[in-house]
Amino acid sequence: MIRTIFVFALIVLIAIAAVWLSDYPGDVRLTWGGYVVETSVVVVGAAVLVFAVLVALFYRFWVWLKHGPGRIGAVFSERRRNKGLEAISSGMVAIAAGDAVEARRQAVAAEKHLSGEPMTLLLAAQAAELNDDNRAASIYYDRMMSRQDTEFLGLRGLINRAIKEGDVEKARSLAKRADELRPGTDWVTKELYELSLKLRDWEGAESALTRLARGKAAKGEAVRRARTVITYQQALTAVKEKRESDALSLAQQAHEIDPSFVPAAVLDVKLTAEQGSTRKLHKLIGETWKNAPHRDLAEAIRNTVSGEQPSDWFRRAKETVAPHNPDHVETHLMLAKAALASNDWGPAREHLMRAGGDNPSASILRMLAELEEKANADAFAAREWIVKSSVAPQDPLWICNACGRQEEKWHAHCPACDSFDSFSWRTADRGPHNPDVIEAEIVREISTGS
Ligand SMILES: [Zn+2]
Repeated sequence: MIRTIFVFALIVLIAIAAVWLSDYPGDVRLTWGGYVVETSVVVVGAAVLVFAVLVALFYRFWVWLKHGPGRIGAVFSERRRNKGLEAISSGMVAIAAGDAVEARRQAVAAEKHLSGEPMTLLLAAQAAELNDDNRAASIYYDRMMSRQDTEFLGLRGLINRAIKEGDVEKARSLAKRADELRPGTDWVTKELYELSLKLRDWEGAESALTRLARGKAAKGEAVRRARTVITYQQALTAVKEKRESDALSLAQQAHEIDPSFVPAAVLDVKLTAEQGSTRKLHKLIGETWKNAPHRDLAEAIRNTVSGEQPSDWFRRAKETVAPHNPDHVETHLMLAKAALASNDWGPAREHLMRAGGDNPSASILRMLAELEEKANADAFAAREWIVKSSVAPQDPLWICNACGRQEEKWHAHCPACDSFDSFSWRTADRGPHNPDVIEAEIVREISTGS
């Protein structure tokens, strides 16, 4: 209503002004440069009015664009965002395809359109990795670390970087931080386990293993084996630190988890001989020889009595050890060696023959040569055995399953390739046949045998 009255009043005013102007028509003369414009006041008034209306309209349009629902800024930022997302998606495809140049190009484009976004940082870091630009990758991971929403992702990148660079300590401290951020994340616990093993931190490895293997997995063969080795290593540490009773109880634990694990059986026998009762030791020897008969165990059992004569050892081995596993190859080998050392030729020959079977190993043939030399002074027969031994199957050794390194003693970590628990007791694949080496071996064997 008020609006209608206002419009009506305005029309009346304009009409009065028009009538008034037609009663007093005036001239307007405008001179500018070389131009002269002459017109009536009515025309100028109308022109000013039209101009004012146009300016008002334009201003309203501008305000509408800026604040109204269309928004010029939104239109532009939406386009920028789309371009950025396109760059990120093309960049990720390039990374998956291993195209380093394209990945870098898209990372730059993403940075231009979507700077500072988590995905942009990730793309930039991955592109840097693909281009082997370690410094740039670390910078991007550091930037990710400084943001709460990407800290975990940045940590993962930095952990992998540290592992690649061989900085195990740094990788482990970063993994600990990741574990604080998101406790129980599978890959973090796995890294903590692997890195603790590399650092020979057996306590850390054990706790990570316990967290890693829950429920069914905890009873799996691999976990049981890892626990055996780790407990055994803890026992060795206790021995080194002269914590005698800890050492014995850890060795017993390791032996209990896996009775067939020879190093733990050996250590258990050694420490029980030092600390335990004779009755306990006697029982333990029988039990270990049943479950883990081995060259190293025979040696450990022999050493439980110091200064023992060879003939006494032969009798003890025959009467108290062998009956627990009478037909095993290692039993015959133990008895053959003990008999040889105590010059008991008959039993020595018998056990060597039984240990060798149809396909005696090189060391059995060499012991037969020694027997011929010592018992019969038969150099010709000895030489026959030595020649045979050069082409016979090799004897088992501790061999690294990862790199093939051969060792006399078992190691938790391979001295050559640092693999964890990679040694198994087996025979090596025979190398190329080399007659010169074999001839040299024959000469050496005969000269030491005689
Ligand atoms: Zn190795």
